[in-house]
Amino acid sequence: MRIGIIGAGQLGQMLGFAAPAVDAECRFLDPSSSPPAGACGHVIQKPFDDVGALTELAESCDVVTFEFENVPVAALQQIENQVPIYPPVDALRHAQDRLYEKRLFEKLGIPLPAYRGIDTLEDMTSAADALGLPMVVKTRRLGYDGKGQIVLNDRRDIRSAWQALGSQPLIAEEWVPFDYEVSSIGVRNVDGDVAIYPLSQNSHTNGILRISRSPIDAPELEEKAASFVRRLLEDLDYVGVLALELFVKGGELLANEFAPRVHNSGHWTIEGAKTSQFENHLRAILNLPLGSTSGVGHAGMINLLGEIPDAARRHEAGHLHDYGKAARPGRKLGHITVVCGTPEERNQLVEKIGQSVTQST
Ligand code: AMP
Repeated sequence: MRIGIIGAGQLGQMLGFAAPAVDAECRFLDPSSSPPAGACGHVIQKPFDDVGALTELAESCDVVTFEFENVPVAALQQIENQVPIYPPVDALRHAQDRLYEKRLFEKLGIPLPAYRGIDTLEDMTSAADALGLPMVVKTRRLGYDGKGQIVLNDRRDIRSAWQALGSQPLIAEEWVPFDYEVSSIGVRNVDGDVAIYPLSQNSHTNGILRISRSPIDAPELEEKAASFVRRLLEDLDYVGVLALELFVKGGELLANEFAPRVHNSGHWTIEGAKTSQFENHLRAILNLPLGSTSGVGHAGMINLLGEIPDAARRHEAGHLHDYGKAARPGRKLGHITVVCGTPEERNQLVEKIGQSVTQST
């Protein structure tokens, strides 16, 4: 079987590395000149909306998927009658617009922070009245890793925030003084079988994921988060891996966003679960039986941002993944995973490795 993947970044690369396990090969579409996934399959080097390139991908592959959520929906519509596309385009449509995403959470009874849609400067003032300050203002579309968002602390900054975010449709959210953040990653195949990974606890720096740990000792939260993921998977008639990010506050969960793809907070599954999220995504879209999502120890994942320092290569206890990308400040260049026998051991090792690779990022 041949799988077409739109995007050839590190997520595409890790999907490509998982393909031999399901007897498949991957082919990618990406405009970059030497993207990470070039290491594991042919890359059609064309823009994501190039009709000829999309048609070539559709004609040469049995199924098409994507590794990032800002794929133009119109591009997928060009080929949706030629080849199955998973996850479904409708899931992408919801994930691409924070307002649609929040309405979907509401429809499915998934709790979320209070929010308001904003189309004008006046709307932003009314949102501040309703939600109080601080509040977080985010662009509805094309935001990621904390980009396209501002925390508004002072009413006098309303106008400048509106201008800084480009006077475009926005959403405002109440500021959530969360205890910590988690993500629940689920997978559903074409037949509708569902499996959910153990919950990950995630810490971010400047909106970018820095560390994930799984499992965590929070069975009630895990069960609740898994039920939310199941609702999303069923409602969207979803096929593939989906990640739901949530805030934990006072023992309650509030949904932040979902990603219709394999997710950075699930990278630990390569060494730390019986079946990785990457293999399970491929199994789902090829309609193979899903692999077990059980953990195989206490896993921790440390993202390497900006550069891969020599120290990162010296940790014998860690599995280094170097995506082969050029160094740039803040850029995700790789990650290290550790799998330990106890949570204490895992936490100590994550702390130690985290400190050794942080100075220079
Ligand atoms: P997002 O792009 O929505 O995933 O936001 C990136 C990060 O910003 C989140 O992982 C949180 O750490 C933080 N954040 C986003 N929204 C809020 C909020 N309403 N309250 C507090 N922190 C937030």
